[in-house]
Amino acid sequence: MTFSIHGLAVARGIAIGRAVIVASSRVDVAHYFIEPEQIEAEIDRVRVARNAVVDEIIRVQEGLMDMRTKETPHELAAILDVHLMLLQDDDLIDGVKQRISGRLYNAEWAVTAQLEALARQFDEMEDRYLRERKADIEQIAERVLRAMQGAPSPIAPPVPSRGKRSSQDLLLDDTVDVPLVLIAHDLSPADMLQFKQSVFAGFVTDVGGKTSHTAIVARSMDIPAVVGARSASQLVRQDDWVVIDGDAGVIIVDPSPIILAEYGFKQRQGELERERLSRLRFTPAVTLDDQKIELLANIEMPDDAQAAVAAGAVGVGLFRSEFLFMGRQGALPGEDEQYEAYKRAVEGMQGLPVTIRTVDVGADKPLDNKSADRIHRDEAHLNPALGLRAIRWSLADPAMFLTQLRAILRAAAHGKVNLLFPMLGAASEIRQALALVAIARAELDQRGIPHGAVRLGAMIEVPAAALTLPMFIRHFDFLSVGTNDLIQYTLAIDRADESVAHLYDPVHPAVLRLLAGTISECRARGKSVSVCGEMAGDITLTRLLLGLGLRSFSMHPSQILAVKQQILRADTSKLQPWAQQVLDAEDPASLLAA
Ligand code: PEP
Ligand code: MG
Repeated sequence: MTFSIHGLAVARGIAIGRAVIVASSRVDVAHYFIEPEQIEAEIDRVRVARNAVVDEIIRVQEGLMDMRTKETPHELAAILDVHLMLLQDDDLIDGVKQRISGRLYNAEWAVTAQLEALARQFDEMEDRYLRERKADIEQIAERVLRAMQGAPSPIAPPVPSRGKRSSQDLLLDDTVDVPLVLIAHDLSPADMLQFKQSVFAGFVTDVGGKTSHTAIVARSMDIPAVVGARSASQLVRQDDWVVIDGDAGVIIVDPSPIILAEYGFKQRQGELERERLSRLRFTPAVTLDDQKIELLANIEMPDDAQAAVAAGAVGVGLFRSEFLFMGRQGALPGEDEQYEAYKRAVEGMQGLPVTIRTVDVGADKPLDNKSADRIHRDEAHLNPALGLRAIRWSLADPAMFLTQLRAILRAAAHGKVNLLFPMLGAASEIRQALALVAIARAELDQRGIPHGAVRLGAMIEVPAAALTLPMFIRHFDFLSVGTNDLIQYTLAIDRADESVAHLYDPVHPAVLRLLAGTISECRARGKSVSVCGEMAGDITLTRLLLGLGLRSFSMHPSQILAVKQQILRADTSKLQPWAQQVLDAEDPASLLAA
């Protein structure tokens, strides 16, 4: 039966594919694709784990037999029988094998997916006794997964890319060619990064706001995504056909042939539109009244520089360096490793400038994706977004911070580098950050290691910074407005919390006032200023930002051409008085829609 689920649209386009539900297991398991030559080894890992669990259950059963003279726990014996029966069930075993050999899932993923599919079948049974057997399936899944943890996979997680597919490629057989869409309760930014090179044609998460970091990574992957879809991971089943409408923020489950045809058409329209936009790649971003606009790229990993150059970016306006620090179980990258990564980004940009932001972890960007880690973090810090995040985290560990600063200064020997500090709010933080840059440089001099000049910049992303702008203008070469956080901290709305997402308003008069004031004051004092939050890549806001005087935008490479199209059609001399009206309005959104 067809039904739809509504969430928040985060990345545009239409994806059609079979659902892969991840991470509902109680055991933390990795999900990744294997190479065909690894199929046998993965099936073997499942076989060994299953046999170990069977042996263990038989041993327990034998122990129970010995206890017969005393009080025999009949119920326990019956449960163990059911577990043995399930473990030896051909459907279960064949299903797991099929997921490994047909879809190239790693062993743990195949086990959880197959057992989940089975659990759903039990869920639907009329008979209460049978329905309750679902708990047994969960228990054996846990036992097998734990047995496998004793013999971890020798295969490293990241994945061979199978490319994206359109609705025309839909195959109804169960092979590796079926497009897949990922549905999860939650994915940390580190999880998302793992999936970055993967095959998924789209993403859905139950939780998250439009500018949560998970959504930002999804957007950078340029595939349709919906977050804040509440109970999607409960309502959608493993393997259901699903349409993700990333423009409308809707998921259609089990679409009828008519709906499928409709969305297939929309998908092709989207592809044509992208093709049309690609012609603008070499067109300079200049408005009708001859204002030159700088279009920069936001990147997460050094190799994203390729996409930035391909999209015609004139530099990187924001390299979120924290992604180099994530998912490493606490082992932070050393100076050489970071230097190599920054150098790769600098070289990838072929002489264009790269703005490297120092690490911004904390809040919705935990270092690791382990659920235990998140629990620990949440218990330790009741307001993580207001806690030890970004520059505060760096200043709390000067040795770690100096390591990063030295690596960035060394990379600057290979090209134009700008060094950007996140979330500064106080004069003391500015002084410490700048002093540490000087120390890092002196240390490199002392060691005789080459390094280069950098321009120093600050993010304006807390109201305190926007309200004390002259101090920032005095100390820094350039400023970059992080609207994602500026909105969060101005309006007291957690950007990652879907339950308050309706109040997260980029055009709230308070936000616009801080933004407009920052842009105009920087322009008046001849200080470079750009916007690198998600507002910069939102085509519904391009005209407003131009009207407010913004001339430098930084966004995901996939958004650059659409924003450029808006710029080519704009006349800033006409937009300026209109932007002033929007700024003075009680309800700016109504003027934007007009
Ligand atoms: C922002 O806050 O707008 C920003 C660009 O930084 P991040 O999204 O990484 O917090
Ligand atoms: Mg920020």
